[in-house]
Amino acid sequence: MDFGTHLLSGIILAYILTDFNSWMWVLIIIFALLPDLIGELFYQIGRITKGYKIKLIYDQEITSSSLYLKNSKYMIPYNFLHSLLAIGLLYIFSLPFELIIAYAIHIVLDLVSHSRDSWGIMIFWPFNKKRFGPKKNWWEWKFLKNTSVFYFNLITYIITIIIFLILKFFLNKF
Ligand SMILES: [Zn+2]
Repeated sequence: MDFGTHLLSGIILAYILTDFNSWMWVLIIIFALLPDLIGELFYQIGRITKGYKIKLIYDQEITSSSLYLKNSKYMIPYNFLHSLLAIGLLYIFSLPFELIIAYAIHIVLDLVSHSRDSWGIMIFWPFNKKRFGPKKNWWEWKFLKNTSVFYFNLITYIITIIIFLILKFFLNKF
């Protein structure tokens, strides 16, 4: 999923799991973004080593980049951070469960929105390199064709804000 949706999921989790009196809420948001913050940094470096420019807009070239970077060492951080192994290590090192939840939700969002043919999550990496996920990446979904990714984001943001408001109503925290 895109950066903005991961960010919003982090904000919602921070709202549910903390009272904003500690810095835990900042850490929750960071952990909701962490697999991409580090993974995509190395991915961009990998692009440069192959002679491609840094790219932040999702398109067909981004889809095919997963193929020409398939065996690149620059994809190791991304693959590792998007695996059960990473979640397991957070657990082994006894990180607070709020952070593990935020991290795991990032992986779940990517699992259902990344194509099994290109960017699909290899959840059992490095033991098994099978990719899971739908037929197409979220930026290639049918209803997105000929429309801007902006509208997709608008929809996911509206959905997450509605979830946030429903939670606010039921938890009545403030
Ligand atoms: Zn991700």
